[in-house]
Amino acid sequence: MRDLAKHQGLRNQLVSVLQAKGIKDKNVLEAIRKIPRHLFLNSSFEDFAYQDKPFPIGAGQTISQPYTVAFQTELLQVKKDDKVLEIGTGSGYQTAVLFMMGAKVFSIERQNELFKKTSLLLPKLGVRAKQLIFGDGYKGLPTHAPFDSIIVTAGAPFIPQPLMAQLKIGGRLVIPVGEDVQVMTLLIRKTETQFEKHELGDFRFVPLLEDKN
Ligand code: SAH
Repeated sequence: MRDLAKHQGLRNQLVSVLQAKGIKDKNVLEAIRKIPRHLFLNSSFEDFAYQDKPFPIGAGQTISQPYTVAFQTELLQVKKDDKVLEIGTGSGYQTAVLFMMGAKVFSIERQNELFKKTSLLLPKLGVRAKQLIFGDGYKGLPTHAPFDSIIVTAGAPFIPQPLMAQLKIGGRLVIPVGEDVQVMTLLIRKTETQFEKHELGDFRFVPLLEDKN
């Protein structure tokens, strides 16, 4: 598949939809305007790639809805050269958005099939993550901590303590918390021991699963 003028047209429309839904961060919108989302989906879904909807990506997982990607990314307040940890690489689309915004991205995926597929795809699209890791996101990535921000792209039954511990002071953790429905939760680390918590509405994600190994 290629990236054609018609895809660019559809992306411009998608950006307008996201703006109408309240997304304001110009860097987020520009990343979404540039990234060929159709190349992250099965070719049979090409025609739907620029609708504001989630889609299956194999292994029972989904690529998040563009609005959700934009909403979570906006909450991170990504600055160039920020060190960002993503839990749930999936298709790699969110990884690409963060990379396009200038972040140094570390991303963890627990499904080997998706890990392998996405590890091949991202370099082909020019997306250079700092590191893609096959592992358990509940543990975070202590060897590369602390992070400016951490984004969890699966529904977590609770906030994993290691992720809080791996945030810089001033750092931001964005995580959907809950079982059937998730509350988008933003934690800002104020001091070594104090976190400010914001709850920002209901979303639905595939579950953050415990380690299989
Ligand atoms: N950011 C992805 C969203 C994928 S859906 C995208 O843009 O496509 C959530 C992903 O989280 C799935 O791929 C799932 O396999 C992964 N996941 C679930 N539990 C996990 C865990 N404990 N550690 C790492 N990844 C996990």
